[in-house]
Amino acid sequence: MSIFLVTGGAGFIGGNFVHRAVADGHRVINLDKLTYAGNLSTLETLRDHPGHRFVRGDIGDATLVSSLLAEHRPDAVVNFAAESHVDRSIDGPAAFIQTNVAATLTLLEATRDHWLDLPEADARAFRFLHVSTDEVFGSLGPEGRFTEITPFAPNSPYAASKAASDHLVRAFQHTYGLPTLTTNCSNNYGPFQFPEKLIPLMIQKALAGEELPVYGDGMNVRDWLFVQDHCEAISAVLERGLPGQTYNIGGDSEQTNLDVVRSLCVLLDQRVPTDRPRELQIRFVRDRPGHDRRYAIDASKIRRDIGWTPRNDFASGLAHTVDWYLANQPWVAGILDGSYRLERLGQ
Ligand code: NAD
Repeated sequence: MSIFLVTGGAGFIGGNFVHRAVADGHRVINLDKLTYAGNLSTLETLRDHPGHRFVRGDIGDATLVSSLLAEHRPDAVVNFAAESHVDRSIDGPAAFIQTNVAATLTLLEATRDHWLDLPEADARAFRFLHVSTDEVFGSLGPEGRFTEITPFAPNSPYAASKAASDHLVRAFQHTYGLPTLTTNCSNNYGPFQFPEKLIPLMIQKALAGEELPVYGDGMNVRDWLFVQDHCEAISAVLERGLPGQTYNIGGDSEQTNLDVVRSLCVLLDQRVPTDRPRELQIRFVRDRPGHDRRYAIDASKIRRDIGWTPRNDFASGLAHTVDWYLANQPWVAGILDGSYRLERLGQ
């Protein structure tokens, strides 16, 4: 049994990680600010679980982070907390710099100070795992894949802020010796993803009979990974990763945005039949400014050194995701009508 201080655990990937860690018998202290993206209903089944404690707060609050570290003495800090939506970063980059850079620095400093005071054996076993994205590497042409040594070339304010946080994590390992691990993962999909992101957004619009807006020509390529495979990879890196290393995580599953939306339409037509195939709802809209053309991950290092491979291919992961959203419409409805925000008032 390990104790984890998880940040951003009321969000999409952090929420999935928390469920998995608690189910595996670990204890989780879940620190989350509950921005618009944080959702306590994701954690509903853990409400009274002895293995889970939720704390509403900011990773940029040094006093709070230090007191949680001192009180719970976690074996690892797993940092998911971030502003994560590219389109929002284009409209308002400042929040991304605040959380992904400045607050992440505060979290690192508080963790370093705590770690420096640990007895030697505990300090050696301690880990700070920083969850990051493949978007730090920029855009690819038709060939090639990102490796751990691909130079950073972030193109959106979101990607730039995550690249900055990755550099800070690296610097804390190099300068202070903090035992850090960084993971750079491709696009995730699966249960509990906020319906502003491509897959849950399209599922909701398709079910509502609305237009399905696809950026540009729909030919932008992303590598997709089922969220539970990502969480398994993070657990494996925590257990077997070498401090100071970064690990790319990907699903070997490149898809154009248009193909993703078409596959969703087919899955929904099979499950919720309509007179008119949902593919006819697709509309091409003006492209996102600076839209990266292609991302692809070379995950051979984590496969070789850690022994992780994804369990789900895109077809099965996507079918599972569609079934989850169909079975959990009240979770989505709580976001769409804003009632999920009321729950935090009782926190
Ligand atoms: P998300 O937006 O769903 O969740 C982020 C969570 O962080 C929310 O619960 C939010 O309330 C919380 N948060 C935000 N600012 C905070 C702060 N200052 N202090 C404490 N909590 C704060 O994001 P996600 O999709 O789950 O992504 C999690 C992490 O994984 C991010 O760091 C993201 O960059 C990275 N990532 C995401 C993807 C993806 O496809 N979603 C892929 C690779 C990497």
